Amino acid sequence: MKIYFDKSSIYYNAFKYIFEIFLRNKKINFNYTLDLKSADFIISNTSESDLQYSEDFFDKVYSKEYEFDNFFKNDCFVKNSKGEIDYLCTAFYMINCIQEYGCFEPDEYGRFKYKNSYQYFYKNVEDNIVQQCFDKLFNSNEKLNKLKQVVFRSKFFLSHDIDTVYGSFFQDGFYALKRKKFDVIIKLIMNVVILKHDWLNIDKIIKIESEYDFNSVFYWLVNKGKLNKLERNSDYSIDSKNIRSTIEYVNQKGWENGIHKSISEDSFETEILKLGFIPDGNRYHYLKFNLPSAFNQLQQSGIKLDSSLGFADVMGFRNNYGQPFYPFDFNNNRAYDFVEVPLNVMDQTFYGYEKLPPGKIAKKVISFFEKNNSNSIISVLWHNNFFSNYKFNGYLDAYKEILKYFYENKYECITQSQIIKNKY
Ligand SMILES: [Zn+2]
Repeated sequence: MKIYFDKSSIYYNAFKYIFEIFLRNKKINFNYTLDLKSADFIISNTSESDLQYSEDFFDKVYSKEYEFDNFFKNDCFVKNSKGEIDYLCTAFYMINCIQEYGCFEPDEYGRFKYKNSYQYFYKNVEDNIVQQCFDKLFNSNEKLNKLKQVVFRSKFFLSHDIDTVYGSFFQDGFYALKRKKFDVIIKLIMNVVILKHDWLNIDKIIKIESEYDFNSVFYWLVNKGKLNKLERNSDYSIDSKNIRSTIEYVNQKGWENGIHKSISEDSFETEILKLGFIPDGNRYHYLKFNLPSAFNQLQQSGIKLDSSLGFADVMGFRNNYGQPFYPFDFNNNRAYDFVEVPLNVMDQTFYGYEKLPPGKIAKKVISFFEKNNSNSIISVLWHNNFFSNYKFNGYLDAYKEILKYFYENKYECITQSQIIKNKY
């Protein structure tokens, strides 16, 4: 499709950015032409064009009116000056998490609060609204709806944050003591004697996933220790023999390693030096980050992929979009160079926030997946310590049940490096 884009608007770059995400979502081949007569599709701010863009939305965003009540009145759609739904501007606002810019009233960790989000207010955290916007735009446009519509079956992305590997003795031990499970206590004591650590179980995780022919990534912390009442970095030293050989083992097996950015004054550059290899991907520890500063740090770091964009306290879409994307950089009026893979499902959400009985987890995750079984890459995080059966009893079974569902329904597993190679 040959596109003529009227460049006279000051928001041309931002509009072109979101329109290109739409085109890639719909797998529409396109190039640009400067010749109006030979164009198949014309975009400008006049009503004679095939797609008219409005500047009202960007006027507000560029003047830092970020909060969702500036845009959403009775529903979650951005409207133009005529009161019509502007699907592309809605997609732009949601995909880029503009509601989080400036993060008012953060939670005790300094994070944007789910309770302050439009998802909470409008109860739509499990809905892929951006996809709905793209579908509506495609179907309602006379020229676009003549093109072939491409739908792909959803895929999934597995990852593991390694926060603690030595906590089993005290945490599982406390669990066993409370329940008078003396056999477990004796086993844990024996583990200490023979220097075996139940949570240094990366080999076990790889074995479980390889049974299904799946693959995943392990995110490592390079800084250690308790920081305050609420926060701690790892309980292991990244330079210890145990950890180094485990990282090497992950590589040898064909799984991936990445960085789990710690709570620290360290820049990415410093942490990567401590890590000892150049990671493709990052996830922020505690999902602690603010926008847009985290995006700017990631850009500076040269990291190719980030997978932090999820709400800690609820399963679903933090940006109501099912696919990885390149966030928009307002400073440079273009997309950042790293790909963001939103996080949708995490063990800690069920354990720490929802207090859901472990037997109900798989069913809940599967129903979310069924609801979004097309056009999505669903990201699932299971911490290594949730693979032991004492304190986190039932979580291993839930994880296996989810993997079994993926396997039996022939959903494809996608890795960090595959995501980086694709264009979104
Ligand atoms: Zn963590």
